[in-house]
Amino acid sequence: MTDARILDGKSLAATLRSGIAAAVAGLGRSHGVVPGIAMVLVGDDPASHIYVRNKTRQAGECGFFARDILLPANTPESQVLDTVAALNRDPAIHGFLVQMPLPRHIRPEAVIDAVDPAKDADGFHFVNAGYLAMGRDAVIPATPLGCLALIRLAHTDLTGLSAVVIGRSNSVGKPTVQLLLRENCTVTVAHSKSRDLPTIARTADILVAAVGRPELVRGDWVKPGATVIDVGINRLDLGGGKTKMVGDVAFAEAVKVAGAITPVPGGVGPMTIACLLQNTLALCCRKLGVSIPVPA
Ligand code: NAD
Repeated sequence: MTDARILDGKSLAATLRSGIAAAVAGLGRSHGVVPGIAMVLVGDDPASHIYVRNKTRQAGECGFFARDILLPANTPESQVLDTVAALNRDPAIHGFLVQMPLPRHIRPEAVIDAVDPAKDADGFHFVNAGYLAMGRDAVIPATPLGCLALIRLAHTDLTGLSAVVIGRSNSVGKPTVQLLLRENCTVTVAHSKSRDLPTIARTADILVAAVGRPELVRGDWVKPGATVIDVGINRLDLGGGKTKMVGDVAFAEAVKVAGAITPVPGGVGPMTIACLLQNTLALCCRKLGVSIPVPA
């Protein structure tokens, strides 16, 4: 059997970003508006700093007005909520996010609930989650959107396919389930309490792993020819100060069995940032009352 097709998120994200950049420039010409995005980061988590830096840089490259708000780890919850309220009111900002995870003394649900759903670039607010579950117009979380775009590289029509999503987080697993349902897949959700994960996984034409456990999904969990989307980002300590990034799927094994598979890095990660920018552009267009000029 030949190796699986590699679903190249880096190149797909570059294509999406160039469409977004063209749309941003067009919006400037037609309406004199620059879409504004803000990222709030509380604390010193090194991975979060890298994510926020990448988001801000790519937003700037696509022509957005991009603003970082960096707050120290001991910032009181009330001050984070005040920052969110100020961004809700700021006419230059069309979408923003508060980077997770937050320091332990800040309740993530209080912060997410405080974001105006019309500026909720991450799509984490319960209003957007509810709209997505009801099949209504919603801001859809960026990582699931990126997963769907990658799946579409391998499947023009998902109707009737069996999809298994491992992981049920509000930010990745659950919205991915909703998106795949919307595409008429037959969806199974597996999680840490599921029994016999390998047997469940082997039923999948489309297998999405969003767990956070290095290489949990082995090659013999994959149905031959299946499409495998690896959301996981795990850093393995190799000793001597060296680390290696791996996903939730044992890539070297799964690539021998799957029909198509995303690599880590270079799969879902780059798509997440591009889809975040797409969400923010869409929020700006919605505010202006114009239809979004990039492929959704
Ligand atoms: P989370 O910790 O919020 O949720 C993990 C889920 O996995 C839970 O629902 C849990 O039930 C399930 N789980 C945990 N252990 C399990 C096990 N042994 N067997 C089966 N299920 C198990 O994590 P998350 O925010 O959903 O992120 C998941 C992974 O995706 C992490 O590695 C994270 O870093 C990564 N991630 C990547 C991107 C990206 O852009 N590529 C974006 C978000 C998250």
